[in-house]
Amino acid sequence: MPLQITAKTIDGNLKQRARAISGQTVQQCFQCGTCTGSCPMIEHMNITPRNFMVLLQWGQAEALQKANTPWICASCHVCQVRCPRGIELPRVMEALRQLKLRANVNHVEPSNLQPEEIIDLPAIAMVSGFRKMTS
Ligand code: SF4
Ligand code: SF4
Repeated sequence: MPLQITAKTIDGNLKQRARAISGQTVQQCFQCGTCTGSCPMIEHMNITPRNFMVLLQWGQAEALQKANTPWICASCHVCQVRCPRGIELPRVMEALRQLKLRANVNHVEPSNLQPEEIIDLPAIAMVSGFRKMTS
């Protein structure tokens, strides 16, 4: 998916809000792409972890709202271990999930699930789909 970064969609406070929750400075990311190359969930993401960081650096709130990246992220921490800048990317993903949830944006909407889906889904998948590490 091509990245579109425009001045009109810059949210100047987004980085600060993400930092307040995650403790991570997204400006430290220098776009090496190691996270994307290491991520086991990449084929299911519509925005790669590296591009996710670019959008966050540029405060592109609208594009980030459409990203499934933080929900697909399995919090496996491989990217964190390999990041040459020591960025704890799972914490950044967590922060973006938090911000989405605070705006009442659910990745999985419970009321849209069919009873047979609820029976079939493992409990851990339900927890992961709704909240992951977010309490
Ligand atoms: S591995 Fe780290 S520095 Fe490299 S693109 Fe990912 S977050 Fe940025
Ligand atoms: S923590 Fe998330 S983004 Fe990082 S490698 Fe694992 S699944 Fe991918």
